[in-house]
Amino acid sequence: MNIIFKALYITEQEEGFKKEIIDRTIDTLPEGEVLIQVHYSSLNYKDALSASGNKGVTRSYPHTPGIDAAGIVTKSSVATIQVGDKVIVTGYDLGMNTSGGLAQYIRVPAKWVVKLPEGLTLKESMYYGTAGFTAAICIDKLVTNVDPAKGDILVTGATGGVATIAIKILVKLGYSVVAATGKVEQEREKLLKLGVKEVIGRSEIDDQSGRPLLKPRWAGVIDTVGGNVLATAIKTTHYDGVVIACGNAGGVQFTSSVFPFILKGVTLCGVDSVEYPMEKRIALWSKLANEWKSNQLDEMVREVSLEESIHYLEQLLKGTHTGRTVVVLQ
Ligand code: NDP
Repeated sequence: MNIIFKALYITEQEEGFKKEIIDRTIDTLPEGEVLIQVHYSSLNYKDALSASGNKGVTRSYPHTPGIDAAGIVTKSSVATIQVGDKVIVTGYDLGMNTSGGLAQYIRVPAKWVVKLPEGLTLKESMYYGTAGFTAAICIDKLVTNVDPAKGDILVTGATGGVATIAIKILVKLGYSVVAATGKVEQEREKLLKLGVKEVIGRSEIDDQSGRPLLKPRWAGVIDTVGGNVLATAIKTTHYDGVVIACGNAGGVQFTSSVFPFILKGVTLCGVDSVEYPMEKRIALWSKLANEWKSNQLDEMVREVSLEESIHYLEQLLKGTHTGRTVVVLQ
């Protein structure tokens, strides 16, 4: 049967890219071993880029964005995944050049599918989504290198999705966290409620002096902003500290001397959530469902309909979005 379902649909028009909710049919989905009825998706910066016609993310339109999906398998041609299984798909090509999770159905290769771990509901898995999974990779790299006793951890772009979840996990693990945000006045109280020690403005971590090294402040950094904020983080990290670079919301280029690396032993770690290996992916989802799971996981999460997601995608693009937005599809 050719099921009809709702999907966000982006079309390229003379006046720009149009976002609308349309009815699609299963036969318009790409080939794949697993058909999934999507119950929840979530919004990420990359979705905002795809939905606004960014061809670095999505090469051709019309297109349905959505790099995250959680739902129930309704058809499978592989033995390891059964009809009725609760599953998560994040990353790979979902929502980029493959029809994505901002729709009631997706069809994907079996190798992209993670079974929902014990300890998480489908909805909770999308409280995390790619943002939470990326935060988990950052934390994994940080905890293996930096002990909580070593000092403060800086998290930049603090009101964003990745940063919010990273903060919650760090606080749970006993780290002392300093949150840097461009929205100090509006968001200070909410960030303090998450358990951070201090909230500082973006200008404090955007050094314009050009000096190769500055007074050390951080035992570790999780940077979601990139650009000169990343450059400043590297210069202000303590001896033997670790800087985790996962984002580019504030710029893609940065300049650094070699001195933080050769005089201070600073380590710069990259993060990629898209092609992250499956075995390690399953292990991190399990941590998110168990020892890293926060009691108030729904703090800073809003639930919206597919229709409402259009408004929040626009906020994400403008940098005025805060926390996490989960899209309810069933
Ligand atoms: P969000 O849009 O939710 O958060 C980004 C935050 O960065 C904003 O909330 C804002 O925080 C800050 N920010 C926005 N614009 C600027 C600017 N021009 N200059 C400085 N800071 C700015 O995005 P996500 O949390 O979903 O993603 C964060 C970053 O990580 C993005 O760049 C995204 O592309 C990247 N990412 C990378 C992944 C990977 O695999 N490496 C996976 C997922 C995301 P505030 O106002 O508090 O400063």
